[in-house]
Amino acid sequence: MSDFLPYGRQFIQDDDIAAVTEALKADYLTTGPTVAKFERAFADHVGAPDAVACSNGTAALHLAMMMLGIGEGDVCIVPSITFLATANCVRYCGGEVVFADVDSDSGLMTPQTLEDALKRAGKPVKAVLPVHMRGELCDMPALSQITERQGGRVVEDAAHAVGSRRTFGNQVVHAGDCRHSVMTTFSFHPVKTITTGEGGMITTSSTAVAAELRTLRSHGMVRHPGADPWLYEMDSPGYNYRLPDINCALGLSQLAKLDRLAVRRRELAAYYEQRIAPLAPLIWTAVTAPGSDPCLHLMTVLIDFKAAGTTRRAVVDGLTAAGIGSQVHYIPVHTQPYYRKRYGDLDLPGANAWYEACLSLPLYPQLEKSDIDRIVETLGGLLGIK
Ligand SMILES: *Cc1c(COP(=O)(O)O)cnc(C)c1O
Repeated sequence: MSDFLPYGRQFIQDDDIAAVTEALKADYLTTGPTVAKFERAFADHVGAPDAVACSNGTAALHLAMMMLGIGEGDVCIVPSITFLATANCVRYCGGEVVFADVDSDSGLMTPQTLEDALKRAGKPVKAVLPVHMRGELCDMPALSQITERQGGRVVEDAAHAVGSRRTFGNQVVHAGDCRHSVMTTFSFHPVKTITTGEGGMITTSSTAVAAELRTLRSHGMVRHPGADPWLYEMDSPGYNYRLPDINCALGLSQLAKLDRLAVRRRELAAYYEQRIAPLAPLIWTAVTAPGSDPCLHLMTVLIDFKAAGTTRRAVVDGLTAAGIGSQVHYIPVHTQPYYRKRYGDLDLPGANAWYEACLSLPLYPQLEKSDIDRIVETLGGLLGIK
């Protein structure tokens, strides 16, 4: 392996490899028993009533929108700071996206930015899709209350947040437990906290929703108990968004080590905090809300590049030259050519300010504290901090 430190990286051990090898010897490579096993284990781990595995996080979002019956002209609210997929899933179904602004210090949709977006929507919205940026949970009790008040449903995009929790009063909310949403989606892409190569999951508070999602995941085919053995019916077309048993076997072995991986991520994030703090006010870490205990997917710092007399491009190039990967999460989705063409130029100052300042630094379990020392020293040097 090269010495380059990427911003994120999978964590695969011998037991993961053994699990996949075993799966390859099984009778079913896909649609076998390991799928339900992974779903049950994942649901139990996050404290959700049910979970449905699917081919990736984008498919999970698409299935969730189909499940809600999003169609032509239906309005859904999506924060502008997220990956493209959170907005695109609405468009797959013909719905319209109203972009919410985010808090410029956390990157999250807030009750206030949701209220503002609802005002701009000008009509009742079908769905609100909070994104737990970096792994930090949004204020779900408030966001769900606001959404339900006007008849919408909440679908959480928790692609960054497996293993995260946040306390509200005397209630502890875990990412994926669906206490404040109808569905929560996850991604198991290799840069995310646990991986299945490609893969996704939808947790849900309703077993009826889960059953419908399983139908939509496989072409919309329904088999009735007691019917002729060959018979299936389709009421509306679904997709092939299945996750193979091979991937589910990897998911089970990854899930078994999630608690350990989360401890390591928390440890590394705390060390970053400690090393970054003295570099204020030119660099600071994204805000963690009181009561929040994130299992961070991304170690995002915010940098006042102008005050440092440099540019993000120069800093990114300098880091790369020193063997340090970094990434920008994210370019505000409302500024993408497709969405600008569709909705015009929007003024979302929080999202723009976040975008101007953000930079994600390497964070994954194999990273050492000595790597963090080197990353922070290199970054400080590039910003002219002695
Ligand atoms: C990764 C990601 C997705 C998409 O997941 P894929 O598995 O890559 O399809 C969706 N939303 C967010 C916020 C993500 O980070």
